[in-house]
Amino acid sequence: MSSSIPAQLVFAPGQSVADIDTSATPGFSGAKADAAPVQAERSARLTELQEMLYASHKAADDTRSVLLVLQGMDAAGKGGIVKHVVGAVNPMGVRYTSFGKPTEEELAHDYLWRIRKALPPAGHIGVFDRSHYEDVLIVRVHNLVAPEVWGARYDEINAFERELVDSGVRLVKVAMFISLDEQKRQLLERLDDPTKYWKYNPGDIDERLEWPKYQEAYQAVLDRTSTDYAPWHVVPCDKRWYSRLAVTELLIQALESLDLSWPAADFDVEAERKRLLDA
Ligand code: ATP
Ligand code: MG
Repeated sequence: MSSSIPAQLVFAPGQSVADIDTSATPGFSGAKADAAPVQAERSARLTELQEMLYASHKAADDTRSVLLVLQGMDAAGKGGIVKHVVGAVNPMGVRYTSFGKPTEEELAHDYLWRIRKALPPAGHIGVFDRSHYEDVLIVRVHNLVAPEVWGARYDEINAFERELVDSGVRLVKVAMFISLDEQKRQLLERLDDPTKYWKYNPGDIDERLEWPKYQEAYQAVLDRTSTDYAPWHVVPCDKRWYSRLAVTELLIQALESLDLSWPAADFDVEAERKRLLDA
């Protein structure tokens, strides 16, 4: 089964962040109940493809990898994507990294230093929970560096990603958008449930108040860093069941584009079978 979801999510030049319908389900016409069996089937397909990628590296020296970049405001559901979408595949082949406020050591280096260190090894799916884009999002919104410094980063990021793609990294960039109302509901849920306090951060409200500035910063990211070799995907996230299915489909599409196959045996299967039966 192929899905029309990925094609509908690619950022289109001129598309406005302010106009995103965060409750839409592009490419999927069903409701939540209809998505459950599809999600189960597609998660199984993703698992199979990931194993093929891993096997191709192990047995056939395929050096390619996939890198999922997740960007979104607090409570957009990045954690849920990691838990439910990435969590469905074999952890052996996953390299997960979350990027919070840089440490002193990280700040002493170029902003891409910590990013380069976290790139997925050959045959792996890398997952960036936040990323180098923070350096043109929160950094821009709060003027953490001079405008000419963050202003130069869009081109730098494009050059960096070109380098990654040329070295065999297939990038899947996902910008997750929720409405302010849905974000409020999600944050309230964290305050209403002691098992979710750990997810709550008082600073999230400060960032929420900066939403207009974030909108501008996200618009610049999409306008300036969506390239033919590493396009952005805009994922509406008010409905979590949809965003999970959408990211599953985006990963499947990326893996299928690698044209993977199971590595052939580098031994004589029949001779080995005979040897084993006789052993
Ligand atoms: P999340 O908000 O992603 O669910 P979290 O609440 O556990 O994760 P942390 O991992 O501590 O939070 O850090 C996330 C915070 O770090 C975000 O506010 C993010 O904007 C900020 N951050 C990430 N990268 C940078 C950066 N390069 N410079 C400044 N702040 C950054
Ligand atoms: Mg947070």
